[in-house]
Amino acid sequence: MKSYEKNWQKFISETKQADLDPKKLEKHAKELEKEDKKEKEKEEKQKQAAVKKATKAAPIINKNPEVKKELEKLVKDPEIDFSTILDQIKALFDSLMGGLGAFAGGLGFGSDEPADKPAAAAPTPTIKYSAANMSPFAKANNEKWFGNPAGSPGKGMKSSITSARRYNKKLNFSLGAIPFTKDMPAATGENPKAAWRGNSAVGIPQKWIGENIGGSSAGGMSYQINKQCAPSLKAAIDECQQKYQGLPMVDVGGFVVKGKRGGFSSHAWGAAIDFDSRVNPYSRGGLLSPAATTTALAGRGGTSRYHNIKNPQGTTWLEYLKTRRGQKADPLYVFVAGQYGANGIAAIFKKHGWSWGGNYRGLKDGMHFEYLG
Ligand SMILES: [Zn+2]
Repeated sequence: MKSYEKNWQKFISETKQADLDPKKLEKHAKELEKEDKKEKEKEEKQKQAAVKKATKAAPIINKNPEVKKELEKLVKDPEIDFSTILDQIKALFDSLMGGLGAFAGGLGFGSDEPADKPAAAAPTPTIKYSAANMSPFAKANNEKWFGNPAGSPGKGMKSSITSARRYNKKLNFSLGAIPFTKDMPAATGENPKAAWRGNSAVGIPQKWIGENIGGSSAGGMSYQINKQCAPSLKAAIDECQQKYQGLPMVDVGGFVVKGKRGGFSSHAWGAAIDFDSRVNPYSRGGLLSPAATTTALAGRGGTSRYHNIKNPQGTTWLEYLKTRRGQKADPLYVFVAGQYGANGIAAIFKKHGWSWGGNYRGLKDGMHFEYLG
């Protein structure tokens, strides 16, 4: 049985029949979407403010209509998040201002460059997601599958390059576009009915999967992952396990063909992996639900393996859970390695080029780690 089928059956057997009521699922998906929309609107305002501030600090941006247009496009793109905009602006400062740290520092980006360093002649500004910045690997892969380095649909294949999703953008540019032959199902939220179980649903060629995805293992776990991402993931797991009492411990799946809202999930590139899902849920605020706290406290579903893990104060996870009986609780990774935004596990993964879903704004995906490209 393929791992996604196993996961699906596990999910079904563990989910109460009532939770699978289509009406309830639809309602839940709608709630998630509403929440998501509100977050996106908030984020767009923040992005706009950042660009405005940057343009004021570096009027040279106004003299580059191409750059200005590109920034405006990114602000409008709901799939480009605030931190990506900051990255873009920082890259712009670096290229336009020749590393003049005063500007970046003034905007709170931080910079090691001395403020009085003379500005070099401005080289061509770089925008992260432009054709010029596509990795050589992605270009070669695209050429092979679509007959063009940009990854535009071709050779009878549809392409993930046409998707606007934020993560699709990053991965299209680092790993190349995913070729597929059937229309993507209209997927919404985390509705399990919409999860694409198997590549047959969208017709990703087995050959692409064979070439790009491979079995890999680290720290006692075996998983399917994109071959380009395997070494950095292994390094992150090894370092993390050494520092954090063997965490991550259980992989819940790397490569899975799925997506939502008209784009592929990063799991479809094999560029994401979920760990220790029962104690690091995908949820609003990222907390364990009272039911999940009860499960973890009772050690059900293999969660007793986490009971003796300690926080920096020396309290075990089990002792902590006892204080949260019947209530929401911190997820394990927060308990062990610190709050969202300043988490030690996330820091180790980031060092190796992987981001943590626990740092998402809005809904937290505490089990999810993703290759940054
Ligand atoms: Zn995930």
